[in-house]
Amino acid sequence: MSQIIEQIHSSEISDILENALDGKRPEYDDCLRLLESNEIHLMGLTAGHLTRKRFGKKASFVNNIILNYTNVCITDCKFCAFYRPPGDDESYTLSLENIEARVKTAWELYKIRQVLIQGGHNPDLGVEYYEEAFRMIRSKYPKIGVHGLSTSEIDMIARVEKSSTKEILSRLKDSGLQSIPGAGAEILVDSVKDIISPKKITSDEWIRIMREAHELGLPASATMMYGSVESTSDIAEHFEKIVQLQEKTHGFMAFIPWSFEPNNTLLQKENTVRYGAGGTQLLKMIAISRLVLDGFIPHIQSSWLTNGVGMAQIALQYGADDFGGTLIGEEVVSCTGSRSTELTDKKIIDAIQQIGYQVEERDNFYNTVCMH
Ligand code: SF4
Repeated sequence: MSQIIEQIHSSEISDILENALDGKRPEYDDCLRLLESNEIHLMGLTAGHLTRKRFGKKASFVNNIILNYTNVCITDCKFCAFYRPPGDDESYTLSLENIEARVKTAWELYKIRQVLIQGGHNPDLGVEYYEEAFRMIRSKYPKIGVHGLSTSEIDMIARVEKSSTKEILSRLKDSGLQSIPGAGAEILVDSVKDIISPKKITSDEWIRIMREAHELGLPASATMMYGSVESTSDIAEHFEKIVQLQEKTHGFMAFIPWSFEPNNTLLQKENTVRYGAGGTQLLKMIAISRLVLDGFIPHIQSSWLTNGVGMAQIALQYGADDFGGTLIGEEVVSCTGSRSTELTDKKIIDAIQQIGYQVEERDNFYNTVCMH
C-alpha cells in the first residue's frame, strides 16, 4: 500500500486515486479527468489494489452458452455485423426444439449454469415464444439460470404485443426469466445513439426499462460499448447515468465495458470507425470502472470476448473480478471475424490459474458453485 501511495503521489490524478483508496469513489468531474489522463498504469495499480482488497486473488466465471435465437432484425444498427433483414436468405430463428436441443447438449457436456439469450428485433416473435422457451429451460434444467433479453428486445416484444414493457417483463419473469443483460445501452447519450443505432430505444428508454426490471425483482448487468464515435464526456455521462439508477434501485449485479469491433459493420464501411479501441483502452476502461463503481456495483467483468484471453488476464489485475462466461455458441461478435468467441471452462480455469489466482465457478447470481 505505501508503495502505491508513493507512486501516485506526484501524478496529475493523485487526489482522485488517493480518495479512491480511502473509499471515496470519483464522481462525474473526476471521472472525466480520469478519462482524459494517460496515467493508465497508476489507475490500474489503484483499481487492482481495491479489487484484491475486496476479492483477494480470486476471479469468478460462469459456465454458460449464448443462444442467439434469431438474427432477424429491423433495427439496422451500424455497429452490428450479425443481423439480417426479414426474409433474407441468411436469416434464421431457432425453434423451441432447437433451443431445447442446444440447452440439453450444453447441460450434458458442460454442466452449464446459465443460458444467455439474446437476438435481433424480430417482428414475427410474440411474447409466447419467449415464455415457452423460458418455462422449458427452468422446468427441465432447474440449475440453469435464464439471463436474457436486452431492454431493446423487451421494447420490441412490447411493441409486437401492443403492451407495456412492464407487463412484458412481468410475464417473462413469471415464465422463468431471472436476470437481464445490459446490452442495448452502448453509450447512454442520444447524440451517440443517433449515429450508431438511430432506430434503437433512447437512453431514457433503456434506463426506464432497466428500472422497471429492477423494481420487479429482476437484477441486471450494465454494459458500455466504447470505441465507436463517443467522446470522453459521453463516457463520463454514461457512468453517471448508471450510477444514478443504481443509487435508486441497486439492481445491477455487474458492469461490463466492452469495445466496439468494427469489422464487417456499416460504421467501418462508411469509414466512420476504422479500428477497434485496442488493449490499452480496455485496461483504462476496466480500471476506471473499478474506481467509479467499487463496492457500489458488485462485479466488474473482464472482456475476453472482444479483447482475447491474454488481455482478460491483465484486466483481472486492473480492476475486473469476473472473467465472464464460456459463451459457447456465440454468434454476434463472431460475425465481426473477432478471434475465437467461445471458450471451454478448462481454458478459463487455466487462464485464471496462470496468473496465480483462485478460480470460483459461479451461477447466474454470482453465487459460488465450486472452487477450482
Ligand atoms: S445490435 Fe441488435 S438491435 Fe442492433 S441491428 Fe444488431 S441485432 Fe439488431
